[in-house]
Amino acid sequence: MTASVFDSLVGQSHITEILQGAVAAARTNQDSQEMTHAWIFTGPPGSGRSSAAVAFAAALVCPQGGCGTCQECRSAQSSGHPDVEIIRTEGLSIKIDEIRELLTRTSWAPSMGGWRVVVMEDADRMTESAANALLKAIEEPGARTVWLLCAPTLHDILPTIRSRCRHLQLRTPSTIEVTEVLEKRDGISPAMADFAARVSQGHIGRARYLANNESVRNTRTTIMKLPLTLQGISSAFAAAQTLIDLATEQATQAAELRNEKEVDDLSLAYGKGATGRGMATGGSKAIKDLEKEQKTRQTRMIRDGLDAALLDIATFYRDVMMVQAGSSDALINKELEAEITATAAKTKPQSTIKKINAIMDARTNLSHNAAPLLTVEALMCVLAR
Ligand SMILES: [Zn+2]
Repeated sequence: MTASVFDSLVGQSHITEILQGAVAAARTNQDSQEMTHAWIFTGPPGSGRSSAAVAFAAALVCPQGGCGTCQECRSAQSSGHPDVEIIRTEGLSIKIDEIRELLTRTSWAPSMGGWRVVVMEDADRMTESAANALLKAIEEPGARTVWLLCAPTLHDILPTIRSRCRHLQLRTPSTIEVTEVLEKRDGISPAMADFAARVSQGHIGRARYLANNESVRNTRTTIMKLPLTLQGISSAFAAAQTLIDLATEQATQAAELRNEKEVDDLSLAYGKGATGRGMATGGSKAIKDLEKEQKTRQTRMIRDGLDAALLDIATFYRDVMMVQAGSSDALINKELEAEITATAAKTKPQSTIKKINAIMDARTNLSHNAAPLLTVEALMCVLAR
């Protein structure tokens, strides 16, 4: 088999087949059922919905239909292709101004004479007015513009937009599929690949990050042991603070590197160091704007980190429930088997279910901008019961 941009998708052969059909139809330049100008990719976090969309975009602009190696393929995948626009949201929402700007840019004909493709990675973050502005464009598309919207589920997209798009649902790759990719493609040892795939629950990006990063693994270990520290109210408050601190610390570390580089780049663009007038006129405002944007991004990263931590903790109680149900051979957290078995013996299945529900409720509240510390404190009090 020859190499292709679709090779990077794990466990999505049903999607790959449809997309390859669409690419083939698009290349014949004839109207066909298989190719359409608006698509929605849904799937759980880490299933690779945006990777699938970006691969499709590359295949549409590649002269060979997605060889994965040519200049077109590579530049499309690294956001460097003039006809492929990948919209990644740093903020909590995509606003109407951003959509308007995007629509102006995409009204131009594709520079290479082929397709112009827009990939929107977080289409669910569009405000309602932004979504309505986009709807107009999808209703009256430029003949050569293709819209690829990504979202966790179809419900995250306005019904009016949904009804005009073709829907592709990605599945969560199995632990075995993720393990294989980590071993074969990333050269990770079998034991580490198994661990990372198992605890990441089909989230390939997170599995790779864990496997390659010792400090991230250590943080996870600390988080997974938090349920064991819960004995009474004061330990609940302490655990909540630890969780917030860990999420903040990780987000800060990841953000700082990027922030510094961005400010440097921007200063350079405005001629910092020189006595240039640029810095005095537009430069300092641009840097203030950038810093504001960076602060928003950090807030989002802390929330995302907290969400991931809560999901991890939920797997602890999921394992407890498995043991209580009498099946201990499919534990996600095999490393904690002794602790999980002890907890299972001490508590009742009903209370385990209540705890899992409380974790899911806390995640929902956080996604609706509830105050992080208060939310996590309330949750830990429930878990401590
Ligand atoms: Zn190519």
